[in-house]
Amino acid sequence: MKNHYLNYLLIHKKLLLSSIVIVTLLAAWRYPLIGYTVPVVMITGIVVSVYKGRYVCGNLCPRGAFYTVYLSKLSKNKPIPPLLKNPVFRWSAFGLMMGFFAVRVIQSGGNWYSLGILFWTMCAVTTGIGIGTGILFKPRTWCAFCPMGTLQNAIGGHKEPLKVSQSCVNCKLCEKKCPLELPIAKYREQGVSLERDCLKCNVCVATCPKKALSFDKKLHKNKEEPVMVS
Ligand code: SF4
Ligand code: SF4
Repeated sequence: MKNHYLNYLLIHKKLLLSSIVIVTLLAAWRYPLIGYTVPVVMITGIVVSVYKGRYVCGNLCPRGAFYTVYLSKLSKNKPIPPLLKNPVFRWSAFGLMMGFFAVRVIQSGGNWYSLGILFWTMCAVTTGIGIGTGILFKPRTWCAFCPMGTLQNAIGGHKEPLKVSQSCVNCKLCEKKCPLELPIAKYREQGVSLERDCLKCNVCVATCPKKALSFDKKLHKNKEEPVMVS
């Protein structure tokens, strides 16, 4: 019976995670303390990134799951504009969000309800931007410039990288499915991806017809470290 529930949770993980976004958006303006789910997810992502890079983005982030579940059918699936991946743009977005956050925290005077409303506002505005960009381009376009993703990239983007084995035949099916359009096949020779934005979502691993991809820690580690967004 226990396994039955576990299997149910795993199969419907994305749907369950995305419901957190819907509940937060619908309820936190009325019950501001629900807005605190936002910093909980943010802090979890930052802490886990020390050991696993952007693992939370690809596996536990409610908003990432929301975009995957609800935008996949609506999205025009156009390529993500290079500007949105540009490090200067990404760090500017990070600075803007942190600046806005700091000013509003000071204005709130430490009032718990005002802070809850602030988290709800941030969630609503950024989710709106993510929905717009996700419809115009790839569903998870937001994740290419999400300020928290940029921070996690900087902290632990080199941790637990994707392994690319010699059985890769350069068909690039994996790259077509990657939510962030990351290059993969070009790492065949060195055996390990240097892409710090990898979400560890396993979409490419499941797609590869040659079973050339893996996150198996036992496979060899490359001496080269991925380049940080700077
Ligand atoms: S899908 Fe597999 S074989 Fe094709 S390019 Fe990607 S890793 Fe290589
Ligand atoms: S490279 Fe693979 S695991 Fe990483 S984000 Fe792309 S599809 Fe997901």
